[in-house]
Amino acid sequence: MKIGIVGAGMVGSAAGYAIALKGTASKVVFVDYNADLARAQAEDIAHAVPFASSTAVMAGDYSDLEGAGVVILAAGVGQKPGESRLELLTRNAEVFRQIIGKVLDAAPDAILLVATNPVDIMTQIATRLSGLPPSRVIGSGTILDTARFRHLIGEHLGVSPRSVHAYVLGEHGDSEVLCWSSARAGALSVKDFAAQMRVPLTEGAKARIDDGVRNAAYTIINGKGATWYGIGAGLERLVRAIARDEQTVLSVSIVAPKVEGVKDVALSIPRIVGAQGVVADLFPELDDGEHEALGASARLLKETLDALEY
Ligand code: ADP
Repeated sequence: MKIGIVGAGMVGSAAGYAIALKGTASKVVFVDYNADLARAQAEDIAHAVPFASSTAVMAGDYSDLEGAGVVILAAGVGQKPGESRLELLTRNAEVFRQIIGKVLDAAPDAILLVATNPVDIMTQIATRLSGLPPSRVIGSGTILDTARFRHLIGEHLGVSPRSVHAYVLGEHGDSEVLCWSSARAGALSVKDFAAQMRVPLTEGAKARIDDGVRNAAYTIINGKGATWYGIGAGLERLVRAIARDEQTVLSVSIVAPKVEGVKDVALSIPRIVGAQGVVADLFPELDDGEHEALGASARLLKETLDALEY
């Protein structure tokens, strides 16, 4: 499958690097309005490929996206000093307005994967601007938060994260909801698993995991200014699920008709992802506190979107 990546900055290039190294796609095409950057990233990544796979990596124009099965949207602008979150969002909405029509002209059958932050709002914008069904406009959402949640639970329990099924729901951001009540390891609730392994999941242990999931990005941003490898790998995982029609459950963001009473809002819940994009939403069982937190997250996202003119 041919994959387009619009926005060859840190996140776009990390995704392209992960895709090329794993050989997930036959071809990766970078497009950026900074054509020199796109070319440089493509060449640098192409030089890594002989050690790993046979993916062809190139830079091009929108027309070179023709035939792409997936196009990752990782283009965006940085925050200017003194600029509000809403002003930044308005400018990023403008970036998507410039991009999406051209992407769809070249690759009308592509599934769009949105990586630009704030990813839930940008997914909603991309859905509206593209006119595509929500199942084909997928935001990376909490894919990375969920991976970290599973990793930290697994670490506590002494089991591989692959045997942990636990999800982070809602906004990819401060209002996200760690869904403890339906978290399982093997066929057991994490609480029972922890008891059998004699590593009780105390409130303190849960708080430490919560903090580790919620603040991971801040710690990285403090040290290196931004994050890209984790999300790059998460985007590769999503591309793989689509390219291989895996029907895998991943926590991703798409516009849902109704979540906790909030209509038409993009946020993450576990969803089945395959060649057609998202084929089903899976609402996990939640306790009262989690219902409330997910509702608050949905309302917050909706209010931000309503305040935005685009
Ligand atoms: P991130 O860390 O999110 O990847 P970057 O600033 O490194 O952020 O990357 C964003 C990329 O998006 C930049 O390479 C920038 O040139 C690109 N970009 C911004 N606006 C547009 C646009 N209108 N069309 C194409 N690419 C764009």
